[in-house]
Formats: sequence, C-alpha cells, structure tokens
Amino acid sequence: NGIAKHQPGDLDASQLKVTLADPNARQVPDEAAACASFETVCTDHMITVSWSAASGWAAPELKPYGPLSLMPTASVLHYATECFEGLKAFRGFDGKLRLFRPNLNAKRMLMSTLRISLPGFQTAELEKLITKLVAVDGAKWLPKSRPGSFLYIRPSVIGTQAALGVQAPKEALLFITLSFMPRMDSPPGGMRLHTNPEDMVRAWVGGFGYAKVGANYGPSLLATNEAKARGFQQILWLYGSEGYCTEAGASNFFMLWRAKDSEGGKLQLVTAPLDDRLILDGVTRRSVVELAKVRLAGELDVVERKYTIDEVLEASKEGRIVEAFAAGTAYFICPISLIHHRGVDVQIPMGKTGESGNYTAKIKGWMKDIMYGNEQHEWGVVV
Ligand code: PMP
Repeated sequence: NGIAKHQPGDLDASQLKVTLADPNARQVPDEAAACASFETVCTDHMITVSWSAASGWAAPELKPYGPLSLMPTASVLHYATECFEGLKAFRGFDGKLRLFRPNLNAKRMLMSTLRISLPGFQTAELEKLITKLVAVDGAKWLPKSRPGSFLYIRPSVIGTQAALGVQAPKEALLFITLSFMPRMDSPPGGMRLHTNPEDMVRAWVGGFGYAKVGANYGPSLLATNEAKARGFQQILWLYGSEGYCTEAGASNFFMLWRAKDSEGGKLQLVTAPLDDRLILDGVTRRSVVELAKVRLAGELDVVERKYTIDEVLEASKEGRIVEAFAAGTAYFICPISLIHHRGVDVQIPMGKTGESGNYTAKIKGWMKDIMYGNEQHEWGVVV
C-alpha cells in the first residue's frame, strides 16, 4: 500500500514533533544583505533528530532555529565524524516550491554517513523531513512574490557521543537547516581556476573523496586561499603524476572540446569518471551528463573518462577548446574562462557575449527551467 513499515528506532518522519517559532520574531532580510552577512542567515526553523546505539533514531523535531549543545569531548569535534548534503529549494515561476532530484542527495547522504560509521536510515524519511522544513518555512522565506529565488538546504549528521576513545560514535545527531546562499554562477568574466600545488591533493584512490564528509573540505582551504590571493576563484584539483583533471573546487568539472582530427574531430563534452571514487557523484554533474546525452545527441559526444591537464594544454595549443564549466549546487553551471597551470594560462572561449559559451548557457537554461517549473519534469519535485 506504499506505506513504509517502521520498526522502533527507524528514522520516521511521521513521528515529527513540531514547535513553531513566533512568526513575528524575525523579519526576512533582503537577499543581498543576508548573503553578504558574516554569519549564514538561516530561516525560522530547523529539524533535529538524535540517535543512540541503544534506542535508534528518536522522534524528529521541527523547532525554532538555534544553537546545538555538544560536550567538548563529542566525537565530531575530534575525529571528523561529520557528513553533509547541499541542495536547494526553488520558488518557481508558476508559484510552486520545488526540490531538484532530492532522492539523489538523500542516497548520497546515506553513503557518506555509513562511510564514517554513523547510523543508516531510510532515505525516503530524510526526503520527507527536508520537504517538511521547506514547506513550513517556504511561504515566508521564499515568497511567491519572488519567483526565481532559492534557499540552500543543509542536512548534516554528526557523531555526538562524548567519548575520546577512537571508535564509532554510539550517539549521533541529524539536523537540517535552510539558509540564504549567494548566487555564484556567473562571476564577471567567468571563473578562473588555478591547478593545485604539487604537494596538495584533494582525494586519492582508496580514500574518501567520493563521500561528502567534512574531512574533505577543511584541508582544501589552504590551497584555495592561496589561489584566491592570486586572483583565482577555485582550485582545479589534479590527481597523480599523470595530472588527471578531477574537480573544480567543490564542483565537478566539464571540458567541451573538439577531438583531435586523427580521432575524428568530433565535439566532446568530457568529465572525470566516477569509477576511481576520487570525485563526488554530483547531482548537477549527473544531470548535465543525462541531459546532454539526450538533448545534444548528434551534436556532441558525452565522454566520462580520465583525462589529463596535458591533454587540456595540447587542446588549447591546437585551438580545440570550445568551452569549460564547473557544475555543482553552489556554483550551479559556472562558465570557466581561464585555467592556470604551472606558469601557463589556458584561455577558454567565453562566447560572443564574453559571459558564457553557447553550450554552457544552453545546458544551464535547461536545468533552470526544470528547477523553476518552466518545464514540467520529473526531476523538479514539487513540495
Ligand atoms: N564536488 C564536490 C567536492 C562537492 O562538494 C560538490 C558539492 N556538493 C560537488 C562536486 C557538486 O555536487 P552537486 O552537484 O551534487 O552539488
């Protein structure tokens, strides 16, 4: 009958306890001001669910946004037992609120959670909790008067057991917040990438680069800060002595080029493969691959394969690079104008406008139409 049977201790969204905030206590700030703020501006409510090895998941709680309380010896504060997700809630041009393929985020969160020995859950229950939070705060924080706007949804799981022994935590907390996030998909003149310093890699074969665990992000800030100080926005993470192109900052990375004449000269949309588990299986990446395979069939080939920075340099010398873009929830589809690698600048064409190549703009447009309800599509899940 479609109704999931829950055992005691399962994550169960139907048990949600709701404590509403005073609706007049806070005003929704101006988007630009909120995004420029020193502290992330969250909506009125959050969801928390505690877990213990002894009794499983407790009843979820939706309550006013506020601080968490943790002991200084909590597992997460010492051993990085933390993972998270990032997705957006969109106010459509048809007035409806939508999520974009939230089932993929819920599945990825389960994968990340298990990778760091935190407790599993039914992903459909996480989806229901996310939907509930968006439904409760959406009317006020994503008003119908502002179609085309979005909020950022951040579910996390942390190990909370107050015990310094290095072990899988016997207590955990799942929580979900909803916040403003700046639009980062069109930096003037495109995104400029700097390859990583030779002595810093983001992920490695046998590691955990494929999981969305906090431990992947803190250590990447050093390289990113250095690149920013030199006028670049993100690191293009290369891997191994071969210099395989993997990800651009916290986004997946796509090159659009013409294959060599000796290989047929066809237009190819190339991105790193998932098989080595070096990169995150991005929802945006997957959607670009799936859309391009169908809607650009005949115009270009979509190729998921290992490719090196030397191939990029060679393609640039031979004038075969057509476009490049980063793809992820935060930067969405972001045109790339330059890659700097060890003293060499690779210029990437940015179309007639100088703001985006044609294919990048086309793919971005398709995705936007699904997110904001201009196209009715199964990926746009109405809240
Ligand atoms: N790679 C990394 C390392 C990321 O953190 C993200 C953001 N989640 C992505 C890629 C893009 O994934 P998605 O499209 O699901 O946001």
